[in-house]
Amino acid sequence: MKQDKIDVLINGCGIGGAVLAYALGRQGYRVAVVEQASRERNLNGADLLKPAGIQVLDDLGLLPATLAHGGRVRHEVEVFHDGELMATIDYRYINERGYFILIPCEHLRRMVLQQIESQLPNVRLLYQTRVTDVEYSEPDHISNVTLSDGQQLHPQVVVGCDGVSSMVRRWLGVQSNRQVYDEPMYFATFPLTTSVDQRNRLYIDSGRGLAYFYPVARDQTRLVICFPREEARTLLQDTSGEALRTRLRTFVSSASDDAIAMVTDTRDFKGIPIGSVNIDRYHGGNMVLLGDAIHTVHPITGQGMNLAIEDAGCLSSLLDQYFQGQITLPTALAAYQQERHPINGGVVEYGHRLASSFHDHRCFAANFNLHLQGSGRNPAMFNAA
Ligand SMILES: Cc1cc2nc3c(=O)[nH]c(=O)nc-3n(C[C@H](O)[C@H](O)[C@H](O)COP(=O)(O)OP(=O)(O)OC[C@H]3O[C@@H](n4cnc5c(N)ncnc54)[C@H](O)[C@@H]3O)c2cc1C
Repeated sequence: MKQDKIDVLINGCGIGGAVLAYALGRQGYRVAVVEQASRERNLNGADLLKPAGIQVLDDLGLLPATLAHGGRVRHEVEVFHDGELMATIDYRYINERGYFILIPCEHLRRMVLQQIESQLPNVRLLYQTRVTDVEYSEPDHISNVTLSDGQQLHPQVVVGCDGVSSMVRRWLGVQSNRQVYDEPMYFATFPLTTSVDQRNRLYIDSGRGLAYFYPVARDQTRLVICFPREEARTLLQDTSGEALRTRLRTFVSSASDDAIAMVTDTRDFKGIPIGSVNIDRYHGGNMVLLGDAIHTVHPITGQGMNLAIEDAGCLSSLLDQYFQGQITLPTALAAYQQERHPINGGVVEYGHRLASSFHDHRCFAANFNLHLQGSGRNPAMFNAA
């Protein structure tokens, strides 16, 4: 069978894979994206696009389309601990960009896919497809892949954007050792209320609870909650929402009463296990990883999708230098790891410190960092934290 030569094979088409495909595609490279799921995936809970992620989309010319697809510009978040206001994060003061954007990750991903489909015939998007066989020319250097539809591809570089259970990471022989938290996250959508329309409000409770209220789309409230596993199960078992409303009132201020009143049915809450890791090795041979395949961060930071987008921006420009003959592939991939590993690790550690200190007001307040929360990437901030 004829082997199809391509520049980059991207395994997995979440937000990281989609942005990387767009970035490489607009530079003219031949890209194939292999995604096991169908084009439309379920919502995954990520809604906060912060300045560091916005910057990458802006550099790629995708910011106007992000806003046109319903991205909602916001400036402030109030953070409460045990019902008392602990901090107001005002992006106009903490970051040059001055705002963040609320947009479900899945809507953002579909927008990027539309841009690829309408502009970039050199990028092939293959849904409901998997790699079934891999041939190596030398250790860690993939020369050919066979796909479940029978196609054979001959890629120069293989990128694993395939999430927490990454197959490319397994091909690289790298362990993840992801620590899974005892408090899963649940999220659901309710009608928009005045308090939610006004401002994002994040509530933390010393009994290891979390509730975050913010708007999505034009007329909806997203409520993200997190409680110790058994407690969450008990609260959600009462499908009338009464048990959950009562528990929320123990640490959510009266400013959000109108939003709590909307919680009258718990059956739509979707649960997601959450974990924390930043693996040591991001690449080997002609394989490289990005996004949740290399790191997962506690969602209290609201930065996993941002980190995946930033990884994609960084990797695409280094691969461009490689394809232009300016640097070798090992140099490009080493530079990628050198730039991204400390940032990803810093955010993962920051999220872990926050997640481990809910029970202690002083400790949580000391760990909370406005700049890191706002996706500041100055290395001095990570060192100081
Ligand atoms: C509750 C919750 C709330 C969150 N909130 C935020 C937030 O507000 N802001 C934020 O920035 N981040 C947030 N995150 C994190 C964010 O959702 C993720 O970090 C981000 O979506 C990861 O993107 P990714 O592209 O790396 O991986 P994924 O989205 O996991 O994509 C991986 C893709 O690879 C595919 N795949 C896997 N294996 C294979 C295979 N063998 N072959 C082919 N395809 C494969 C999968 O089907 C999937 O489509 C949150 C996470 C959770 C759990």
